[in-house]
Amino acid sequence: MKKIVAKFGGSSLADANQIRKVKEILFANDDRKYCVVSASGKRNKDDDKITDLLISLYNYRDDEDKQKKVFESIKSRYIDIVSNLKITYDIESELDKILLESKNKNTKDYLASRGEYLSAKILSLFFDGIFLDMSGLIIFDDNNKVDYELSFKNIKSAIENIEAKSPDKKIIIPGFYGSNSANEIVTFSRGGSDITGAIVARAVEATLYENWTDVSGVMFEDPRVVKDPPNIEYITYTELRELSYMGANVLHEETVYPVSKVGIPINILNTNVPNDKGTMIMSSIPSIVKRRVVTGIAGKKGFTSILLQKTLMNEEVGFVARLLKIFEKEKISVEHCPTGIDTISIIVRTELLKAKENIILDEIKKEMKPDVLNVEDGLSIIAIVGEGMVYHKEITYEIFKCLHEENIGVKMIDLGSSGINVIIGVNDSDYEKTLMALKNLSSIKV
Ligand code: ASP
Repeated sequence: MKKIVAKFGGSSLADANQIRKVKEILFANDDRKYCVVSASGKRNKDDDKITDLLISLYNYRDDEDKQKKVFESIKSRYIDIVSNLKITYDIESELDKILLESKNKNTKDYLASRGEYLSAKILSLFFDGIFLDMSGLIIFDDNNKVDYELSFKNIKSAIENIEAKSPDKKIIIPGFYGSNSANEIVTFSRGGSDITGAIVARAVEATLYENWTDVSGVMFEDPRVVKDPPNIEYITYTELRELSYMGANVLHEETVYPVSKVGIPINILNTNVPNDKGTMIMSSIPSIVKRRVVTGIAGKKGFTSILLQKTLMNEEVGFVARLLKIFEKEKISVEHCPTGIDTISIIVRTELLKAKENIILDEIKKEMKPDVLNVEDGLSIIAIVGEGMVYHKEITYEIFKCLHEENIGVKMIDLGSSGINVIIGVNDSDYEKTLMALKNLSSIKV
């Protein structure tokens, strides 16, 4: 038997019309039994996300006038949804109760979580589903980290109980939050409903985790920079992790952990174009699939390179370790460190470095005594990712051919040791041009 967890993001719940689409998708397939929802998102690009408005309610807790204004706009959005869907739900009293409750609880997480709570309530009334609260089921420890094993167990048994009584009903679950041992609501970091979906998928041993958004999957490159990049049909968890780390904004970072361990595939789908195939994320891709050598490319601007040169550096045992210690002491994480015989570059995020730059440079001069110490800002890092690259000998040639044809100077190269990524550094001013030049890599098939 197939079991699908379908998670819908904020844009799929932005208004009554979107909610109707969610219902249609859920009822188009009996296997979609478990529905995880976000709070209502933006209806258009100038709109507010409900979660942001709820957080403002908390931020304005000492300013009655401002709080009232925000509260009224939240109310009017929900009144609109509830009346449009023609459900019987005293949403005004519910919201008044939430505001009152927030005064007792006085926590940001409680208010921030109510968007998901209300989405799930509304959906369960709209199509007679069963609302299953995650407070008391997803458990956070004293360091605000999820206790995964306990949460899987709790959710599994709660769902088994529901299914014993109501086997045919859809179960509607609010994303984004759980609770701690004091029974207080705790939220994940922003975008965390994706994690709830993954936890539920693991708990019910789903055969598929569908993640419904407003795009038809993950693109080969950032569509804001490169026009019409092709869609990625299949990607492994590992490749996705590499791309997400380098800025591809797809799923919350923690989403993959609960499902990848047991190999539940994730399908990114588009609520507005439900028949598009989207992107399938799996632990390994079936061999019949004809894949590209390069699966995707992602990058970020805003890195700084700190170059040290010192004659006979290679003979000083522990040189690199002592150098990295300086960054560790200042809590600056090092992204890359390409080395030569007598040179080493440390690549870090500029925004992290700036406040501590002088301390670090002084420390390097004192400790490492370099012959040359050079700082260069304005570096972009771009990751070219694909498991097929391991077996495609000409890939580095193909990459540099693309760059050469556009006359792009490369400032750094780092070949990931797994062989599935090539990282290059270019000037920030060449960032867009580089991504456009690399688009040609999408035509190379395994
Ligand atoms: N509503 C939350 C946010 O806006 C969580 C989510 O949508 O996943 O971040």
